[in-house]
Amino acid sequence: MQTPSLSARDQDLIWHPYTQMQTAPAPVGIVRGQGALLFDENNNSYIDATSSWWVNIHGHAHPHIAQQLAAQALQLEHCIFAGYTHPPAVNLAERLLKILPDNQRRVFYSDNGSTAIEVALKMAIQYWDNKGTRKHKILAFKNAYHGDTFGAMSVSGRSVFTRVFDDLLFDVHFLDVPTAENISQIITAIAALQPEDIAAFVFEPLLQGSGGMIMYDATAFEQLLQYCSSRHILLIADEVMTGFGRTGKNFAMEYVQTKPDIICLSKGLTGGTMALGVTTSTAAVYEAFLSSDKLKTLFHGHSFTANPLACTAALASMDLFIDPACATNRQRIHEKHIAFLSELQQWAVIKNARLLGTILAFEIITTNADGYTNSLADQLHRFFREKRIMLRPLGNTLYILPPYCITNEQLDQVYNSIRELVSIL
Ligand SMILES: *Cc1c(COP(=O)(O)O)cnc(C)c1O
Repeated sequence: MQTPSLSARDQDLIWHPYTQMQTAPAPVGIVRGQGALLFDENNNSYIDATSSWWVNIHGHAHPHIAQQLAAQALQLEHCIFAGYTHPPAVNLAERLLKILPDNQRRVFYSDNGSTAIEVALKMAIQYWDNKGTRKHKILAFKNAYHGDTFGAMSVSGRSVFTRVFDDLLFDVHFLDVPTAENISQIITAIAALQPEDIAAFVFEPLLQGSGGMIMYDATAFEQLLQYCSSRHILLIADEVMTGFGRTGKNFAMEYVQTKPDIICLSKGLTGGTMALGVTTSTAAVYEAFLSSDKLKTLFHGHSFTANPLACTAALASMDLFIDPACATNRQRIHEKHIAFLSELQQWAVIKNARLLGTILAFEIITTNADGYTNSLADQLHRFFREKRIMLRPLGNTLYILPPYCITNEQLDQVYNSIRELVSIL
């Protein structure tokens, strides 16, 4: 008898994320990766056009990262991070602070994007508490996505993702994403909330990822940040997806002058190799926790905080990231996208074609409402899977968010599959 496929064995046992298990097609068993390609159990290759859920930046199974990881695994795989430290954690903190906005001074490690957000929220609330003022109000954007744990869900826009839990989430004041037209109304609305009661404003700078790859204006955003800053509202930049070059700059906050008090990083941090989260803070935030009073401690940590292997993967990814070849690749992708964008803009079945750095997005016009539950999503996902291209739409929003090593030929294959889709719609 033939051994059952990976995919069949999976279907007997595994519950997949964001997947309606009753109707989802059998998962593809992936056994190997190289560059922008992933290979299934029958050795078919798939172009990873969305960077494996936005995490991969240098390609799969990158030899430099793999070798550094293997060496570290033989040296020190893990160690408690309270009362002890190790070279990968210290080296990574030093190197991260060199490339982050220059007001950042401290690095707090956790496990993923959601935990980086939880830590940021706790830092912000306790910062004020430690200074003797309780502040309960938090600002966030409508349509925001900051993760799937309860704190992260609370600061995310209320949506189909949070619906069942909405009454268990803490209250947040949601703002429209700023434009030249609405910015003064947004500021008036914040002023009416009594800004002295607002602890923090958490935002995805310039690009709302899961909310539908919504791109917004840097000038109005800057005005909003300046206003919040002048009212002593702590600014939490969620760069979990925008970090490490996706938007054209190393970090999206480089598009504005105002510097955040707290930054959250995760997805691209290890080059997509391992789970790791980072929350950085200014000296002012950090110093508010220094005290002879133990109650002013930040009581937060995870078993795998600052895992040496994950930190090593991040260091190896950083070697590749700071190499000028990486920026050249990002620019190359950006320029290819520009050419395809002008083509997209001419097609009647497509609207809102837009581009930021290496990310190209657009909506397919359907008779159903736009949004994550738009039924077109499953059809599109299947269409591209059959073409052996990994594109996973957000509802009727399609986007390309490739690893920076994707070749021009591979990008052309992705564009061609979209041309073919448009021709049959
Ligand atoms: C993915 C994402 C998160 C959550 O990260 P996880 O590692 O999936 O928990 C938080 N913020 C943003 C902007 C994200 O895109």
